[in-house]
Amino acid sequence: MLTDRDRGEWRILGSCRKVESSVFFSPEGERGRVRARREAHAKRVCQDCRVLAECREYALSVAEPYGTWGGMSEADRRRHTRRRQRDARAAARPAGEPVR
Ligand code: SF4
Repeated sequence: MLTDRDRGEWRILGSCRKVESSVFFSPEGERGRVRARREAHAKRVCQDCRVLAECREYALSVAEPYGTWGGMSEADRRRHTRRRQRDARAAARPAGEPVR
């Protein structure tokens, strides 16, 4: 049986519900220190969120391209996904085959 959290109803429990969405999503062309500062702010909100695990898992599972989710920025998720794919390829490689 699905729980509320399985159905994605974890969203209503997120700490970000009380924060402007502009903290979590970058405006067009945002870069550098401004972007880093905004993302750090978003991650601080996520840090104490009681549904961080559900949120992060969701964002990774749908390859969410935009915003900070589950304490991970867009770049964090891209790095995490690349690492997971590299690890999966390494695990599937026959022993002794060189790494590419
Ligand atoms: S982890 Fe962050 S983005 Fe996800 S619900 Fe919680 S506060 Fe919102």
